[in-house]
Amino acid sequence: KGIDDKMVFGHPAGLLVLFFTEMWERFSYYGMRALLTVFLVSEIAKGGWGWNNEEAMSLYKWYTSLVYFTPLIGGIIADKLTGYKKAILIGALTMTLGHASMALEGISDNFFYLGLALMVLGNGMFKPNISSMVGQLYPDSSSKKDAGYTIFYMGINAGSFLGSLLCGYIGETVGWHYGFGLAGVFMFFGMLQFYFGQRIFGVIGDKPSNKIPVEAKEVEEAVEEEVIPKNVVRDRLIVAGVLMVASILFFFAFEQAGGSMTIFAKDYTQRILSGTAATSFKWIDAILTILPIVIVTYVLFSLARKVINKHPMTILFTMLSFAFVAYLGFWKVDREFNSINTEVTVSWFQILNAFFIVTFASLFSKIWEKVWNPSGPIKFAIGLLFVALGFIALAYGSREIPNGALTASVSMLWLVLAYFFHTMGELCLSPVGLSYVSKLSPKSLVGLIFGFWFLATAIANYLAGWLGGSIDKIAEEYSISVFFLIVASLPIAVALLLMLFNPLLKRMMHGIK
Ligand code: GLN
Repeated sequence: KGIDDKMVFGHPAGLLVLFFTEMWERFSYYGMRALLTVFLVSEIAKGGWGWNNEEAMSLYKWYTSLVYFTPLIGGIIADKLTGYKKAILIGALTMTLGHASMALEGISDNFFYLGLALMVLGNGMFKPNISSMVGQLYPDSSSKKDAGYTIFYMGINAGSFLGSLLCGYIGETVGWHYGFGLAGVFMFFGMLQFYFGQRIFGVIGDKPSNKIPVEAKEVEEAVEEEVIPKNVVRDRLIVAGVLMVASILFFFAFEQAGGSMTIFAKDYTQRILSGTAATSFKWIDAILTILPIVIVTYVLFSLARKVINKHPMTILFTMLSFAFVAYLGFWKVDREFNSINTEVTVSWFQILNAFFIVTFASLFSKIWEKVWNPSGPIKFAIGLLFVALGFIALAYGSREIPNGALTASVSMLWLVLAYFFHTMGELCLSPVGLSYVSKLSPKSLVGLIFGFWFLATAIANYLAGWLGGSIDKIAEEYSISVFFLIVASLPIAVALLLMLFNPLLKRMMHGIK
């Protein structure tokens, strides 16, 4: 009853509500994140706090870890106490207040910290529970669940794209408070949208045990136990755990390269990419970079044409990708000729990542649906190999940088290529991961298991921040290129293990595909 009646484009109508709620929440999250460290290190005269890179990086590390740690608690609260819908609303309200508090940073520093704390708490209530509600829209056996999560993931990144672009721009040009405030305004809209849209869900998103009166519940539990024996539940949870460990490695590498990178990204992009008067433009770099992008895009594009019959959106986005790469090329040339030492800002990379996701997400989901659909562990392995490939591109691009060098002339395009590969990897792993978590979890624990899924990201973000903080020391001893290769080797090792154990893991999923 409820949601199943209404469908939009072959998906439950509730998906739209969740899509837009998550989109505006991620708008705020990534919008604020794009500003955070730039603001902290900005001079006091310019309204910033004048922190040094290390201090800012440390706060950033703690923020991005804690924000993914609290979902563990928020997931349990929704499972046991509030249900998912209410938890999402509480989370959204808390985060709206958090953004508002941050915008008041000019009055007292404490408002800034209070804001961060509220956001950490609010995200804990919000993120795991909206993620599990997506899965609850679909019957367990539905083959549409994967596609549903992919659409949801596009919402995440549409929000990230717009938020990083707008908050980053407004914050850095008009004023920090306006940037922080803008993030809050959209969080507020996202909340209203969910509040007024929630009727569409019916009983979906209520506390698991709410749905059935006590006696009936006992019967149901007995039935469930009969249908899903304990050892099956256990096996499935073990598989989920393995996937979570793999995702730690993925997000560690991903964040390390700069999905979110902040100060370190700024330093690092300038270090390996800065264009100065001494820089000579290397056509070979450009060709080596653009060529693979063209080839991959072409292959994906022709696949897309075959499988989705000239979907107009795919064509549009493919063309946009080309335009974007060409633009980068021109920008690069322009920069070289003018010898301008342009600063690459953090938001720029977040935008690139989000852009690639929105561009390629539907294509990946169609490939899984119609061309090739390997098991979850194999998709994870491919994701890890892609992230390693990104690092190999970086290692190659920075191969001539001597130990300890702080600037060198390496093409910007290597980083774009790395981002491209990382994003392809993210598409194999992250939306797939959400869907698997939903399918592998027992119904009454789904919030908690999503909490664990995000805990993996918390650990990854912490480790990435920790390593990022000591990059200078590492670069002094080894060349930065070797460092990248070392980072690349870890995901490769885990990918091989996943492939090796794939048959076993598949068996342990007991029929879940
Ligand atoms: N881009 C994803 C999101 O913000 C990343 C989630 C994750 O790190 N697990 O939802």
